[in-house]
Amino acid sequence: MTIIDLIERKRDGFSHSPEEFSFIAEQAANPHPKVTDAQFAAWLMAVVWRGMNPEELAQFTLALAHSGQTLSLEPLPKPWFDKHSTGGVGDKTTLSLLPMLAATGLTVVKMSGRGLGITGGTTDKLSSIAGFQTELSLDQMKSQAQAIGLALTGQTPKLTPADKKLYALRDVTGTVPSIPLIASSVLSKKIAGGADHILIDLKVGSGAFMQTLEQGALLAQAMRDIAQGLGLKLRVVVSDMNRPLGRAIGNRLEVIEAMQTLVGGATGDFPDFCLDACGHALHLAGLAPTPEAGRTAALAELNSGQALAKAEAWLLAQEATETPQSIAQSSVQATPHVFPAPHSGWVSHLDARGLGMAAMRLGAGRQTADDTIDLQVGIWINAQVGDPVQTGQPILTVYGDPSDEVRRLIEDAIVVSATEPSPQTRILRVL
Ligand code: URA
Repeated sequence: MTIIDLIERKRDGFSHSPEEFSFIAEQAANPHPKVTDAQFAAWLMAVVWRGMNPEELAQFTLALAHSGQTLSLEPLPKPWFDKHSTGGVGDKTTLSLLPMLAATGLTVVKMSGRGLGITGGTTDKLSSIAGFQTELSLDQMKSQAQAIGLALTGQTPKLTPADKKLYALRDVTGTVPSIPLIASSVLSKKIAGGADHILIDLKVGSGAFMQTLEQGALLAQAMRDIAQGLGLKLRVVVSDMNRPLGRAIGNRLEVIEAMQTLVGGATGDFPDFCLDACGHALHLAGLAPTPEAGRTAALAELNSGQALAKAEAWLLAQEATETPQSIAQSSVQATPHVFPAPHSGWVSHLDARGLGMAAMRLGAGRQTADDTIDLQVGIWINAQVGDPVQTGQPILTVYGDPSDEVRRLIEDAIVVSATEPSPQTRILRVL
């Protein structure tokens, strides 16, 4: 088998065998491959055009997952749960949801990435907690999960090295936006991390990777095809990212809101979204007969303080010197600038893309992978979509030093209308 044969086969619309995918993944993971970057890139572009059938999708995902080390979660109690978000503005769901899930008895082991562009990354957010260790070895992950049912680390190059190589090539060859390549890339990392139950939080809208519900539904279906082919339990919750999630955008601010959600007293749509997501997770894991019953159980657990206790144990285990309670009461070290309502009415839109760009330009996000970020800056949404406001009442508070461009982005992102907007649902579809 040669790579030229494989490129030509994909170019001409034929499908690949499992052996062919193993060859590609092995070569991509090999530090001294026979295949050149140009050949990988040609094959990737052929996949962009020709796609993959459901069987190929499952086999390619498996080949990527097995291209490096894998984490075996035996003998930890099942189910082995992971949650993945495709990324959005203000998306701090992992920080609240993981302790909620672990408090129900699920074993939760997660690898998270750094942020790029307008979507933040969980490891950046966690690194705003004093002392918190975002790098655990695979052995540490497993022993922490054994002790408290929950562990999170940044991505390690030991897992799915083939995906790392191919993703870097995709980034510079215009081959990122491919449903089969995205679906296999995401799920290979989950499989290598040992999960057998996966909740995918798929965001669609102006502040997301996938701009439309139609695109999101195609990605969701590809992920379902992979899960079916590989015997994984998978639920995809497709949610609206035309407006930010919750009140906080920016690393430390998001951690504060996530901890307020666990401590109690958080307001707005974020706690609701966490409860809905937890309900779906518990249903998927067989711990609740319906997602609604799962939500009720999640609410009870939040109210009883069990999820908070799990978050305390988690932060302590990863060497944080702050507690969820102290974080929830803290504020950021950046100057606040209030953006008031220009007139009375209702907040009818807050554009996620515009606010995500503004937060990035303030320094909360990376424009390129090597940028350094400021963990303290960001935006706090005082009035969310649907809230009534009086002239001069704060809609947003910007923490940091907003340039003229940031001010313009923010002013363009806010719409206050004279009539009350119809209620907007966050979860658009569940597959
Ligand atoms: N995130 C991933 O991990 N892979 C992709 O291909 C796209 C987003």
